[in-house]
Amino acid sequence: MLKSILSVRQPGWVIPLLAGVVLLCLPLLGLDYATMRQVQLTIILALIVSGMNLSLGYAGELALGHVAIYAVGAYTAGLISIHFQPDLVIQLAAAMVCGLVIGVITGVPGLRMGSWSLAMTSFFLVLLVPDIVSIFKSQTGGRNGLAGILPPSVLGFQLSSTGYFIAMGLVTIAWFAAMRNIASSRMGLSFRVLKKSPVLASAMGISVYRMKLLAYALAAVPASLAGALFANLDLYVSPESFSFQFAITVLAASILGGSMSVYGAIAGAAVLQFALNSSSDLQQYSPLIVGMILITGGVALTGGLAEVGRVAVRWTGVRLFGKPDGVARAAASAAEGTLDHIDGRHLEAKNVSKSFGGNRALIDVSLEAEPGRITALIGPNGSGKTTLLNVICGYYRGQTGAIKLGDRTITGLPPDRVATLGVSRTFQTPHIPDDLTVKDVVITGRYSHERVSVFGVLFRSPRYRQVAKDDDRDARRVLELVGLSHLASEVATTLPLGQRRLLELARCLISNPGAILLDEVASGLDENEIKVLSRILLELREKGSTIVLVEHNFRLVTSLADQIYVLAQGKVMSSGTPEHVQSDPNVKREYLGVDANEDRAQ
Ligand code: ADP
Ligand code: MG
Repeated sequence: MLKSILSVRQPGWVIPLLAGVVLLCLPLLGLDYATMRQVQLTIILALIVSGMNLSLGYAGELALGHVAIYAVGAYTAGLISIHFQPDLVIQLAAAMVCGLVIGVITGVPGLRMGSWSLAMTSFFLVLLVPDIVSIFKSQTGGRNGLAGILPPSVLGFQLSSTGYFIAMGLVTIAWFAAMRNIASSRMGLSFRVLKKSPVLASAMGISVYRMKLLAYALAAVPASLAGALFANLDLYVSPESFSFQFAITVLAASILGGSMSVYGAIAGAAVLQFALNSSSDLQQYSPLIVGMILITGGVALTGGLAEVGRVAVRWTGVRLFGKPDGVARAAASAAEGTLDHIDGRHLEAKNVSKSFGGNRALIDVSLEAEPGRITALIGPNGSGKTTLLNVICGYYRGQTGAIKLGDRTITGLPPDRVATLGVSRTFQTPHIPDDLTVKDVVITGRYSHERVSVFGVLFRSPRYRQVAKDDDRDARRVLELVGLSHLASEVATTLPLGQRRLLELARCLISNPGAILLDEVASGLDENEIKVLSRILLELREKGSTIVLVEHNFRLVTSLADQIYVLAQGKVMSSGTPEHVQSDPNVKREYLGVDANEDRAQ
């Protein structure tokens, strides 16, 4: 009976909302001052940790300077309170703006240089806080701290301690609602694609640098809000609160709660806050405890407490937080396994040369691919096939040559622009982000289409809802087409290689690309999967798609392709119809003999 009640599906926001209501009602329980203070400090820590989860857990940025942004928020709010006015809303807004500005300015150099540089520069920022506070001693009070902050008010009414607690609760609820919206939107998916690989992100049309900056900037929001709340809680701010030790505590709370989770931040923060401050004995050993959490969390507790929660949910059948957005609307629309007409475009690479040092990978290679035709590119290993795709997609810049898609010259454009303009590709080794469902992986392919603003995501605008609905419908449709619709809710990385290749193909198709480049898409596929693949490729051709098929399997190529280019040592050795290429004596001698053996071996 109990189990059947518990098993009732609840919408994703009910439990978090109930938790929020409980939080707001805590002052009614008559808890003692010390406990209430611990709760308030937990809220502050959870906000900072949540920012870290966004940039570190979701976007994979080794940004560790959130405590510095927390300090910026605290000093901004404190100074406004002392010199202008004690209105909490104004202080929160100002702290957020200053946190964002300082965060972005200090983050840009590290973001440009990449992972470890970002970790170093952001951690260094934390070490600098006391010095910067000392430099501006006359305003900040230096090491003695900033005193004289006025009790907070809202719209001219001074807040009681209960009123302030409720204000803190409301800010926390608002942020975690925003964080949930980010994590479960295609923006959250894009962060995870970025975490997997910048190469993959740009192939999805995501501007890597802009996305990194966005994650970094958004992470500054809760940290600076936490700072403003802290300043108004103690009415005093000093540099000791923003120590290196505290930065490590934030990292430990993030790992303990689960970096790639929304509500794990609250669990991690609560455990650390209450555990470290429950007695003065423990406080004394806090660096040791934090260090142990960092080590055990990193080694044994992958996914943190959030993962424990997820396992418990799976085990009991209670769906505490609902499924991520798209999945909840399962089978809302009947998916059809067909595509409408595809607007394929003419793709031309002309006289492309590319050398890596002395290694001439491509020598004056030209290739044309037409809509409604399958153009195959074959050649032995190391003959330059992948390099040509990389030049077309903008990953490499050829020393000579021009690339055109339709009338548009795309030579030298960055890969995300090339993807946005309509060139979609699969990879020789499939690139699939971790922990995403099959359907969500497909949806990431739609990123460059129908973009939604950050505000649209945060507030779930009507446009956001419409786009999410279209994402869901189209993902189901292409999954049906490649025969993976029954696996839509599975974790994509658990699929065998053959299905991962078909999944990559689905991810390409959802963007309705002008040209599709498939790098050895048939390798690793079993006979059935090859049949499915052939059927899909023929259907795509029928619908007007432009397809470039890089392949080893000569039999497959000759049965499918309209036009074949044979590469050998970076040069086009032969090109033409399958019949022409098959009867070319050069191909027979140099290539076919080799490949016929490989073909038998498959
Ligand atoms: P294929 O895809 O036909 O097997 P590739 O295009 O991967 O061949 O490689 C063509 C040649 O270019 C090879 O000699 C390879 O070693 C070289 N090459 C490819 N990418 C790089 C790179 N990033 N740096 C240096 N050499 C490379
Ligand atoms: Mg290759």
